[in-house]
Order: sequence, then structure tokens, then C-alpha cells
Amino acid sequence: MHTRSFWPAVSVSIFWFVQATALTILFVPFTWSMLLLWAVMHFARAVGLTLAFHRYFAHRAFKMHRATQFFWALLGTAAMQKGPLWWAGHHITHHKYADRDGDPHSPHVSGFYYAHIGWFAHDVRHSKIEPTNPVIRDFSKYPELRFLDDHYWLPPLTLAALMYAIGGLQWLAWGFCLPTVALAHSTFAINTINHLFGSRRFHTLDESRNNWWTAVFAAGEGWHNNHHRYQRAARNGFYWWEFDPTYYVIRVMGWLGLAWDIQAVPERIYREALQHQHAIARTPDPESGSGTDANVPGASYSET
Ligand SMILES: [Zn+2]
Ligand SMILES: [Zn+2]
Repeated sequence: MHTRSFWPAVSVSIFWFVQATALTILFVPFTWSMLLLWAVMHFARAVGLTLAFHRYFAHRAFKMHRATQFFWALLGTAAMQKGPLWWAGHHITHHKYADRDGDPHSPHVSGFYYAHIGWFAHDVRHSKIEPTNPVIRDFSKYPELRFLDDHYWLPPLTLAALMYAIGGLQWLAWGFCLPTVALAHSTFAINTINHLFGSRRFHTLDESRNNWWTAVFAAGEGWHNNHHRYQRAARNGFYWWEFDPTYYVIRVMGWLGLAWDIQAVPERIYREALQHQHAIARTPDPESGSGTDANVPGASYSET
């Protein structure tokens, strides 16, 4: 029990230490190639998180072979956001209780700081997940995934060591410290910003919103209201103009035979989006005279 009560302080100290390491970019020489290194290390791991942890382990949006499953899970774990089963298991709980008591990270239930950082960094209630959680139930049979989950610190530390070995402090700063911190906030922003700011195409019974700028930095996850409406789809951007690089990677994997049973957005969901759009156009706004969605009926339950 002693270590348990001691752990939150250690955990939050490690979290803030990692945050502070991003400042190392101020103490190393800048070259344009470092910006490229940042982008590669940010987006490759962002796709690892969204493709594997989110759309595959949590939502079963497609199928892939065991070796490919491990490759993406390893890349996602290198993002330093704990293990694949832990991450996806908590995400299932988020959808189950979205913006109600029981949601591990809702800014509406527990405030912005706790929803953005606190739940992840120092709440021991989230250390373990119930064995009945669908992610644990179905994926913990793979020893390689259990290994990643139990040793989630190993891939990021190995990556950090690799960056340092290749290019010293400059590579460590631009290729690990900055992208790790930026990616953490890009992911956390889906839990907070995307439940506070942005547009609502669907009247889901939560506060999820679509937001293009979080979609850019979180590799397509910013179309979060779409996603809460129909979680099973491999795409979160439901239209071609909604930037969703994770979906493009899944499509390419499909063409190469590396992914199959890729779940599409059903026609009835697109029809619902159109009805909503027409309803907005028809509903007069008493203040400006333009359309508003305030009175559109028909809140939708999320579908998995
Ligand atoms: Zn959400
Ligand atoms: Zn989800």
C-alpha cells in the first residue's frame, strides 16, 4: 500500500519532467532538417496510436495480421502514452460513459486539467483495467501485446536512446523530446478540445465536436463528433475534404492486402448528416436571422 500511495507523486513528476524536456530544442542548433525529423517522429507515432490503439484495438474498424498488429502497436507504444491494451481499454470506457459519470476524461465531468492530464498522469484508479473489458478480453491472449503493455516505457526509451546515438542532443531534442510532448497534447486534445470546441454534425448524446486543427495534429482524429456517431468506421473524416491521414494509411494497407474487412460509414449515417444540414438551413436564428442547430430534434445514440 505504501508504494501505491507514493506512486501518483512519482508518476506526475515523471510526466512534468518529460514535458520540460521539450525545452531542450532551445539549447541545440536549429536546421530545417530538424523540422522534418520532428514531423516524421510526430506523425509516424500519431498514426501508430490512431490506427492501432484507437481504430483497431478499441473499435475493430478493420482486420490485420498478427505481425502487422504488433508493428503498429509497437509504434504506438513508442509515443509514450502507456500500452495498447491500457489505452484502448480506457477508450472503450470513454465511449460507454461519454461526458457522464464514469467517463475517465470528460472536461464536463471533471474539469479541463483532470481530463487533459490528471487522469493520465496521476490517478491510480486508472492503473489497471478490468479483465472483462472487451480489449483485455480479446487481445490479452497475445503475449507480445501483454509485453508491450507491461513494459510500455521500453519502446519510447529505446527510441530516445536511438535518437541520441544517431545525432546526439540535437536529434534527441527534435526527434524525441519535442514530438513526444506535442503528440501527447495532440492526443489529449481529442479528449478535451474536441468535447468543448468545434462543430456538431450529429446530435449525439455527448458533447463531441469536429475540429479541423486537432485533426491535423492527431492524424485525423479531430472529426470526433463523426466518430462518436459511428465508432466502427475506419475513417473519422467522413468526407474527402476532412483530412484523415490514418484512414489513407488503412486504405493503402487494404490495397496491399495488409488490412481487410475495412468498415465503411453506412449510407444511413450520410443521410442523417444531410438531414441535419437541411434542418440547420431551415431553422431560423432569432438573433441573426441565419440558420442554427439549436432546435434540431433527434439526438442520436452512438453506434459501435
Ligand atoms: Zn470522445
Ligand atoms: Zn473512439
